[in-house]
Amino acid sequence: MAAQAARWGLAWCSGSLLGGMLHRAPPKVSAMELEVFPEDWERGLAIVAHPDDMEYGAASAVARWTSQGKDIQYVLVTSGEAGISTMAPEVVGPAREEEQRESCRVVGVETVEFLGYRDGLVEHNIALRRDLAGAIRRHTPEVVLSINHRDSWGGPSWNHADHRAVGRAVLDAIRDAANPWLFTDLDHPAWDGAHMAAFGSSTSATHAVDVTDTIELGVESLLCHDLYLRNLGGDMANAGQFLRDNAAATGPTIGVAMAASFEIVRP
Ligand SMILES: [Zn+2]
Repeated sequence: MAAQAARWGLAWCSGSLLGGMLHRAPPKVSAMELEVFPEDWERGLAIVAHPDDMEYGAASAVARWTSQGKDIQYVLVTSGEAGISTMAPEVVGPAREEEQRESCRVVGVETVEFLGYRDGLVEHNIALRRDLAGAIRRHTPEVVLSINHRDSWGGPSWNHADHRAVGRAVLDAIRDAANPWLFTDLDHPAWDGAHMAAFGSSTSATHAVDVTDTIELGVESLLCHDLYLRNLGGDMANAGQFLRDNAAATGPTIGVAMAASFEIVRP
C-alpha cells in the first residue's frame, strides 16, 4: 500500500554529517504497489535544501525525463556549507556548488541556482515562501520536484530540519506563485501552471518512475559529490550500490527492474 511505500528508504542527512544522523532501513518490497508517474508535462523545477539531495534517487528520474526532452532546472536553497564537520563552511560551500553543477550536467540539467540560505538553519517562513514563489514564477514549471519532507525516513529516524522546512515551503509556494495578489513586487507575474509537486523517497510515496535505463547516470551524478562522499563513510561508503539496491527494491512496485519513488501532491 502506498503508505508503506519507500519505508525501505533512505535515511541520510545530506545537509550535515553532524550528529550521526545516517540511517538506512532494510528494503521492504512486499505489499508495495505504486502508480506509474505521469509524464505528460514538459517543464520541471527541482527545489531542494542541499547539494546532493536530488542525487540520492531522484536524479535517475531526472536523467530519464531530460532524455525525453523535458526541461528541468534546479534551485538549491543552501549551498550545503555546513555539511562537513571537519571543513570550514567558506571552503565547503563553493566546492559543493561546483559539484552540484557538474552533477546536474550529468543528468541533462543546465540551470542551477543557489538562494544562499544558511545550511542547517532553514525555516519555513514567509521569506522562504516568497523566494520559492519567485523561483516558480521565473521558471514556470508544470511539475515541482523535491525530496522527502516528512518527519522521518521511516522507522526510528528523523529527517533533516532543512528538508522538512523546504518541502513544506515548496507546497505553499506553488500556491503563492499562482496568487496574483501575493508577492506583487516580484519580477515575474503569477504562475498557476505548477499542477503537481513530487517528493522523492517519501515515506508516503504514491508513484514510481522506471529508471532502468538511467540508473547509471543517477549513480554518476551522485558520485560528482566527491568532496561530500569522501567525508561520509558508513552506509554511504558505496554510494553507487546504495542507489542501485534502492532502485531495484522499488522496481517491482511498478513492474520494472529499477525505479525511483515519489510522493505526488497536488497543491
Ligand atoms: Zn539534504
